[in-house]
Amino acid sequence: MRADLTLNGLHLGMLRAELCASDNKEHAAYVLFGLSRIQQDPFDRQARMRLLIRDVLPVTDEEIKSADHQHISWSTRRFVDLLARAEREGLQVGIAHSHPRGPNHFSSQDDRNEAELARLAQNRNGETAILPSLLFANRELVAGRVWTSPDCVVDLEYARTIGGNWHTVLFAADRTLSSPALARQELALGAGFNRLMNHMRIGVVGAGGTGSPLLQQLPRMGAGHIGIFDPDHVEHSNLNRVYGATWDDADRKVKKVDVAKREIERMGLGTQVKTYDSWIGSAECRDALKSMDLIFGCTDDHDGRLLLNRLAYYYLIPVIDIGLALRVTERFGISCLEADGRATVLEPGSSCLVCRRIVDAGAAAEEALRRSDPEEYERRKIEAYVRGEGNPSPAVISFTTSVATMAIEEMIQRMNQFRGEDGSIANRVRKFNLVEDFRPGAKKEPCRICGTDRIHGLGDVEPFLGRAG
Ligand SMILES: [Zn+2]
Ligand SMILES: [Zn+2]
Repeated sequence: MRADLTLNGLHLGMLRAELCASDNKEHAAYVLFGLSRIQQDPFDRQARMRLLIRDVLPVTDEEIKSADHQHISWSTRRFVDLLARAEREGLQVGIAHSHPRGPNHFSSQDDRNEAELARLAQNRNGETAILPSLLFANRELVAGRVWTSPDCVVDLEYARTIGGNWHTVLFAADRTLSSPALARQELALGAGFNRLMNHMRIGVVGAGGTGSPLLQQLPRMGAGHIGIFDPDHVEHSNLNRVYGATWDDADRKVKKVDVAKREIERMGLGTQVKTYDSWIGSAECRDALKSMDLIFGCTDDHDGRLLLNRLAYYYLIPVIDIGLALRVTERFGISCLEADGRATVLEPGSSCLVCRRIVDAGAAAEEALRRSDPEEYERRKIEAYVRGEGNPSPAVISFTTSVATMAIEEMIQRMNQFRGEDGSIANRVRKFNLVEDFRPGAKKEPCRICGTDRIHGLGDVEPFLGRAG
């Protein structure tokens, strides 16, 4: 069993404020967690437990029995109340505490106290209850672990903070990584960036026009683990923009994921690649999607976009959704090409694709029908109740590549802040014919996905992502 943690920057700020006061005493807080259970990680085949912070609740002065610079003890009455709430809401109750001046590891007293709380949790909420525990020292999150029973504890391998900038702390010993292939990138972005690229699991949904340039760039940037999702095969009409695809691939109807994997392996850079040639909503993709640290959404499929839109907020996995719209219009009898590219980051704190009116719910429903009941879909198409697939859209490789690169730049910014601390852009639209970038906003009405924190970090629910069917 392996375990890791994801939290929102706001929750990290709350934890720091509560636990790292300047009085040099130990402090404690309760933390409510959503949980993502992965039966089999796509890369190492092990079971994984991903903890997602939902809420931080300080232990108040009245509850504290005694505290100094190397110990704290508090009444556990509220822990029992929180267990009842956690059971109702499908969450787990954990704790966080501080060692103001170190040590950076849990003490034997911590071991005894936490084992007791784990026992309490399982007695109250059953065997699936766990006790996550986080430790802060010198204002930083320095260690974490999860008690899966009163006598079994799993150390967290890493913690990721999302929301604006993305930071990752690797708790396990750093493997020094040096490859001559990455030396020039290291000069620009640092050894830490290369190490994180190697560590991260990156998903690319859609291996066509905008996905294939990403799949050329990410391995060359040192990506250690890439999951590729696309059910389609190469067609001759794709050859103007899908990197690596050949006329022979189209003749033989080779899957796009297989072309991408072949091209990445040909680079010989050691990237591990897992491919999924079914629709992302199918059960075989679920563990793989949940295992990712970052997903690029490069699909034209509206229903697929809606699924990734929910995944980002339920599982705190940032999604960078990419879109490109080319239109040929007539103006004063002259035909003009309009080309708009877009990179949109989905995560708590940013508006979702529904609020940005990027995804068409009607088209998504039609796509779902085409998958679940093709005969009914064809019948409705004949009667013009559904719009059908329409005419093929125009596509040019320079624009598809440009928009993929915009998405990668956003990833670099959030990991490295090359544009400055406040340089993240949640929604960037490039109007190629105006040679200008814009940052359109979103509608302001509250939304059930992004507008409240109701589902943020909820993790596993039945049905998956709260989607019917
Ligand atoms: Zn302690
Ligand atoms: Zn929304």
